[in-house]
Amino acid sequence: MGEKNILGNWHRETADVDLLHEQIMSSLVSRVYDYVILIDINEKNMFVDYDNTGVKWEWTKEFHQYSEARHKMARHYIFSEDKEEYLNNSDVLLIKNKLAKSDEYMFTCRLVDEQGDIHNKLFHHYYLNREKGYVIATMEDKTSLLGRDTLTGEYNHRGFIEAAQQLIRDEQRKEEFAILYINLRGFKAVNDVFGSDGGDRALRRVCRALKRSELRPLLVGRVNADHFACLVDRRCIREDILTNLLHQTYVVNNRSMELFGICGIYLIGADERAGDVGHMCDGARMALHYIEDEYVKPFIYFDEKMRKKYRERTDTLSELKNAMDNGEFKVFYQPVYNVKTKRVASAEALIRWERSNGEMVSPGAFVPVLEDSGRISQMDLFVERSVISFLEERHREGKHIVPVSINMSRMDFYDKKMITAVLQDISNTTVPIDYTRFEVTETAYSSVAETNKSALAEFKNIGIKFYLDDFGSGYSSFSTLRDYDFDVVKLDRGFIQKIGTASKANGIIRSIIEMTHSIGAQVVAEGAETEEQVEFLTTCGCDFIQGFFFSKPLCMEDFEKLLDARA
Ligand code: C2E
Ligand code: MG
Ligand code: MG
Repeated sequence: MGEKNILGNWHRETADVDLLHEQIMSSLVSRVYDYVILIDINEKNMFVDYDNTGVKWEWTKEFHQYSEARHKMARHYIFSEDKEEYLNNSDVLLIKNKLAKSDEYMFTCRLVDEQGDIHNKLFHHYYLNREKGYVIATMEDKTSLLGRDTLTGEYNHRGFIEAAQQLIRDEQRKEEFAILYINLRGFKAVNDVFGSDGGDRALRRVCRALKRSELRPLLVGRVNADHFACLVDRRCIREDILTNLLHQTYVVNNRSMELFGICGIYLIGADERAGDVGHMCDGARMALHYIEDEYVKPFIYFDEKMRKKYRERTDTLSELKNAMDNGEFKVFYQPVYNVKTKRVASAEALIRWERSNGEMVSPGAFVPVLEDSGRISQMDLFVERSVISFLEERHREGKHIVPVSINMSRMDFYDKKMITAVLQDISNTTVPIDYTRFEVTETAYSSVAETNKSALAEFKNIGIKFYLDDFGSGYSSFSTLRDYDFDVVKLDRGFIQKIGTASKANGIIRSIIEMTHSIGAQVVAEGAETEEQVEFLTTCGCDFIQGFFFSKPLCMEDFEKLLDARA
């Protein structure tokens, strides 16, 4: 009787499918499977949770019996050499016997796709839950063990490293090797807009484009979600080819999709051919962080100094996490002056990190790290809330306030929660709407996908003003102006510093100011430091000036004093 109970009829005992489901799921919690099947061996029935989401748990409609499922599997999906073994190993009686001795039993077999190519390697596990008396069969995708990526059919990380290692160690090969490491920008947005199917298709196309390119790669791999690696002969690297390759437009479901990639290049020295390819790939990947303007030059060569800097960067990230928790971030305010009245017209909120030792760290050192790690929106939301509560408090007390502009990162547009939270804060505050404004840099703006730009429209609809930040420092300045109506354009500091040094600079600034006025926007000149600059800007009809000439960014208390003095 004992054995019969062990493999007994769970189905009759637990008529409640949901309850059963819950029990099973809780016994599987710590494991991740690609398929979960529950077999009632006596009744020859099975439940399938195809994608192990824990949601689609149902009596399978495809196969009513376990034995039927096995044979179908064997006919269509199992690699011919593994068929016999599969059928033997998955036999019900055999499983019963195995499980009576031990609670776990497993075997492996290879799967093929429609073309008959080996595609996946699946681990079949059978577990016995003695207490509840049921058998769970799970399948785990171990394709990675084959070194191949299921989605694209190219190498995965492990496969790429192994294959590359073999090639570069081969003394017969006459190539001068280099590794390219490519990261797609904003790929999450592609998934959002085109669905994960569209995203998958895009990834396959990227692979194909790489393989067919004039870089003539010796190996191509998808080494991580939206990261690719190629082993090439460095003599095939041509910068124009690479630049073109890194900006592709695909049409998916009649909609066009723009993909931008950035690429780190590791040149493998002749004396390095016995070296560790994994380490070289890491180098190429690290180099990505040092690309200055991904639109102008989306690739960069690795050098050893980057490794050291990168390590420092990683340290910074872990420190930043603590800093957030410990409230070490402070919002500073840099006043913006009206050129005509020479009075404070508004202010820009600028984040500062005040470390526990009193050291003040500028955003240049940590904003990029936060952007990379996906934590920037959290910080931007903190700034926005600090600004609103600062304004609210003064407003409530009847004190003088000026509009404050808040910097938005490119990443914020991809974060629906963040956008909703900001909109909600603004609609809840007692401060008039014109007092909170937002700044977007032109590189941020141009890299945000069309649909995410609608977030901007939502802000505009309720009357929020937008500034185009760092105008003139990027690549697509004029098209950005054309495509979106910003209320204020902030002329980049780089321009202002050239005043008086190059005859062209003055002319350019003058005409940008005129042009901006002609499209109905106002101009803030950033980073004016000298009297000469301020004078020139005044004669050009510039509306506002923000710069050390008038004031550095001030801590909240000092900024309050400034506002109070005005009143
Ligand atoms: P930004 O938005 O263009 O801000 C202006 C920067 O120019 C500030 O640097 C400011 O201190 C500096 N600046 C202003 N006047 C002068 C001047 O006369 N001379 C010089 N040399 N510099 C001047 P800061 O505070 O270091 O910020 C750097 C950048 O970090 C900002 O550039 C902005 O892109 C980013 N940032 C700052 N706060 C935030 C934030 O809360 N969120 C996000 N996402 N980014 C932020
Ligand atoms: Mg700004
Ligand atoms: Mg700026």
